[in-house]
Amino acid sequence: MTGTTQDDYTDRYARRVRGMTTSEIRALFAVASRPEVVSLAGGSPYIAALPLDAVGDMLSRLAAEHGTTSLQYGIGQGTVDLRERICEVMSLSGIDASPDDVVVTVGGQQALDLIARLFLDPGDVVLAEGPTYVGALGVFQAAQAQVQHVAMDADGMIPAALSEAIDEVARSGRRAKFLYTIPTYQNPAGVTLTDARREEVLDICERAGLLVVEDDPYSMLSFAGDAPRPLRARRREGVFYVSTFSKTFAPGLRVGWVLAPHAVREKLVMATEANILCPSAFAQAAVAQYLATMPWQEQIKTYREVYRERRDALLDAMRDLMPSGTTWTEPEGGLFVWATLPDGLDSKAMMPRAIAARVAYVPGTGFYADSTGTGNMRLNFSFSAPDRLREGVRRLAGVMGEELALRAVFGPTGQTRQRRRGAAGADAPGPDLA
Ligand code: PMP
Repeated sequence: MTGTTQDDYTDRYARRVRGMTTSEIRALFAVASRPEVVSLAGGSPYIAALPLDAVGDMLSRLAAEHGTTSLQYGIGQGTVDLRERICEVMSLSGIDASPDDVVVTVGGQQALDLIARLFLDPGDVVLAEGPTYVGALGVFQAAQAQVQHVAMDADGMIPAALSEAIDEVARSGRRAKFLYTIPTYQNPAGVTLTDARREEVLDICERAGLLVVEDDPYSMLSFAGDAPRPLRARRREGVFYVSTFSKTFAPGLRVGWVLAPHAVREKLVMATEANILCPSAFAQAAVAQYLATMPWQEQIKTYREVYRERRDALLDAMRDLMPSGTTWTEPEGGLFVWATLPDGLDSKAMMPRAIAARVAYVPGTGFYADSTGTGNMRLNFSFSAPDRLREGVRRLAGVMGEELALRAVFGPTGQTRQRRRGAAGADAPGPDLA
């Protein structure tokens, strides 16, 4: 196969691969991770807040003293020890579950993939908030499913919009299989579904015979008081609950889980065995040991405090510096702020200019299946220190100010020029980025 180029494979790909495109986030990481760039892109936790020496000692003992099991194959469903601990973790959010119904996965991401493998045929519809998690969109696209977005406001998904979306799918003769939702500190919007709406959404889905996939990586990262109880704590049947240790401990271990309705659990285990044989025994032992021997709840408090301070720094800077006409969400937890730009600004087209000004964000289009979101951007506040966040906003506001000034002078001409530059932007860095 030497001498072949990527294009030589085009007509050999499976149909499900043809729609696969580079995630805007992934393509941006290459430039955004340069030290001179203030990255408001990405979604990385602040791992430096972990007691790394103590974690290192723990990992070393796991290998030296328990290596014959921690470095061995395990079972597909995940170790009993970890599944029991996962149930304890979930009980803190009011979820009552048996370890038998938990499947340990390679991050929440694999849980989403397994659910898609079990339920989605090509052409099936998934309902999801608009905007929604880019990694879930990738999973649904790989399954050749169509995503129908449901609008949100500051209180999360709008129940009337959900009913309307369900009706629209039915009218078009297609079949909606499940609602995928991130009700708490949503990625990317930063909003949270209120208690009252949680009940409404569950009722609507139950009436429509729609399964619910609740993705909940962030609810422990609240900044003031506790998050509303998860959907799965309110309703057991028809609700899949997906979560992860990526945001409460460390994403590098790649340990997440799915709590499934009992009848489905066995199929999930078969799907995971076909997919990965079994999750990493070492990573599972590390998480179980961490939960058993280290002050993990204190660590979550530390993460919360660090992120709350950073959220405040980002929002303060936005209030002080953003051009008028810019609006944004005010998250009460999680990692992200969702900004809406002044009329006419295009976040994707603006990206090369922003990178040249040494600031990165994720354009809103990445979070929609239908390429809307040009007037939005996602800003992350978990990774950078408060003074860097302020500097990032200063640079970003500067770029937005220049764009607005250009538009005022050149009108549509300036806009067209920006669009063309943007087309070569995130996926194929042009000369401005080189
Ligand atoms: N779901 C959501 C909403 C996320 O934001 C993320 C990570 N950013 C994931 C799932 C997957 O995370 P992981 O695979 O690290 O658990």
